[in-house]
Amino acid sequence: MQPIPLNLQAARLGGAACRVCQQPGSLEIRKIHRFSTPVVVIGWLILLPTFLGMAAGALGLAGAGLAASHGGDAALSTTPIWIFIIIASFMGGLLGYLLVMKKKVITCSRCGGVHAEAV
Ligand SMILES: [Zn+2]
Repeated sequence: MQPIPLNLQAARLGGAACRVCQQPGSLEIRKIHRFSTPVVVIGWLILLPTFLGMAAGALGLAGAGLAASHGGDAALSTTPIWIFIIIASFMGGLLGYLLVMKKKVITCSRCGGVHAEAV
């Protein structure tokens, strides 16, 4: 994992000593996953099908609209199904996103200790 470029918060922390190993100048801000690796994997497994679901829903909706504009009234009856697929995919995507989200933390490059959540 690469440390992200130093920002204002890191600059402010530059001279601060690590609370764990008491060494100054070793603090940096990193982005880490909010949850453990198995949870992140599950999050992606949820997230990936929802992308397909949203794409399929959008295509189906466009297809139904197109067919309806050409006089195929029967195609209109599939519209609620496509809308449901889009909404369900969106909710699933939101859940998956929550699981793979990252957070910024202040870590010590010397001892690897995590100090606090950065904002
Ligand atoms: Zn340290």
